[in-house]
Amino acid sequence: MRIAIAGINHETNTYCKSPTPSSAFYQYRGEKMLQLAGTETSTGGALDRCSELGIESVPILFASTQPSGTIEYSAYDQFKTEILAGIKREQEDVAAGSIDGVFLDLHGAGVVQGLSDLEGDLTQAIRQQVGEAIPITAAFDLHGNISQSMADALDGTFACHLYPHTDMHLRAVEAIDLIVAMIENDFRPVTHVETIPMLVPTTTTMEGIGKDILGKMLAAEAEKDVIDVSWFHGFPYTDIPEVGSHIVVTTRGSREQAQKIAKHLAQQLWQIKEQFLPVSLTAEEALVEASTSERKPVVINEVSDNCGGGAPGDGTHLLRAMIELGMEKACFGFVVDREVAYQAHEAGVGSTISVTLGAKEDDLHGTPLKITAYVKALHDGRLTMLAMAKGSKLNLGKLARLVVGGIDIIVASNRSQTFDQGPFLAVGIDVTEYDVVALKSSNHFRAGFVQLAGKIVTADTPGLTTHKIAHFPRHNAGRPLWPLDDAAAYVSGESF
Ligand SMILES: [Zn+2]
Repeated sequence: MRIAIAGINHETNTYCKSPTPSSAFYQYRGEKMLQLAGTETSTGGALDRCSELGIESVPILFASTQPSGTIEYSAYDQFKTEILAGIKREQEDVAAGSIDGVFLDLHGAGVVQGLSDLEGDLTQAIRQQVGEAIPITAAFDLHGNISQSMADALDGTFACHLYPHTDMHLRAVEAIDLIVAMIENDFRPVTHVETIPMLVPTTTTMEGIGKDILGKMLAAEAEKDVIDVSWFHGFPYTDIPEVGSHIVVTTRGSREQAQKIAKHLAQQLWQIKEQFLPVSLTAEEALVEASTSERKPVVINEVSDNCGGGAPGDGTHLLRAMIELGMEKACFGFVVDREVAYQAHEAGVGSTISVTLGAKEDDLHGTPLKITAYVKALHDGRLTMLAMAKGSKLNLGKLARLVVGGIDIIVASNRSQTFDQGPFLAVGIDVTEYDVVALKSSNHFRAGFVQLAGKIVTADTPGLTTHKIAHFPRHNAGRPLWPLDDAAAYVSGESF
């Protein structure tokens, strides 16, 4: 058996001011994709499962990058053309055995200039090329905005269940297993997408209502003939018609069963929607909240400047408040500012430098901090992920640890959110020795910090990934939409 493996994985924040060109993507072609084997990623899961089952995986192209602005059309067109050509080449390679299935590593929130549904366009093009007889399945990020036309082009739509997304590998394994099961048992799954007109602020599944809903989904998934129940939370930082939250159910063949389960869960989500609205604390309020905790360290996540949602990561709102408060035993990991990181590397360890730090990308994320700092440590920023996507490489570029009063500030060159202790350890910081550990991330950091945090406090300063999702202008979204419009309503057409 031979399964082609390909993907374009991007979470597009259409509110970012710059578009994303092809040069911004890291691109694994052919054999190079095999480097992802053994990593806790979707492609890693697909490759590993194929190896385990003695299936020949046929790697085509995998292109991905940090969440950022709308993808340039030429970039998408180049990747799509290459994937289609690669699959066609393998299909026509009769001597090698053609291909028996296609696995795709997708995000679900990809937006291209002039094309709001990247995944819909790509999956339909692949389906058209390979025909109906070849199974196609895909693994997704749960922050996707999903269309029925995309699901119809696929035989299985597996979003990760967990946020932090620590089950990417597992979900890809299930996607490969479905291809194998379809071939061996000759059945055709169907998938129903139930879109709920609601924007969900980033919500972890480790606790609270996110965890409750997850439990209900998994119970529904255990029902006979149900292959998968996915809840795509949706990605609210995008202005496209497909934006919303989606329950996506795949069964062994009954559309009625898929619809019934999806509508039932959608109704339950709609009923508890008010609970998704988080309390937004300013930087100052978050610091007060942190000071009340007996258990240290308190981890403060600045949710609103999360590179993982498309923000620049160079915001200064929280850091400025920490400096103005004259905090002791505090660390901040990290602010993205290439200029300052390079300045520190040039000056060297042991020097004292005057820098203008952060808030250079736009005027939403604060104003630059003019500080004099001691250069305590330097690092090349080449890290291995420790929790989320464990085993994957993360290149933060030149890293510097600056000391300003009682605060250790890490400065990185490349955009990323903070996933785990890696950046701190790299510059000699043991976070357990600090009272306050500040970082920029919405929820993925939890996978790396929940075990050691005495308490987690979320700071929602002004920023591109604020929890205040009603603040973003929406010209293309279907309306009415909760929580923007009082008239928003979910009508399932089902009675329970
Ligand atoms: Zn996600």
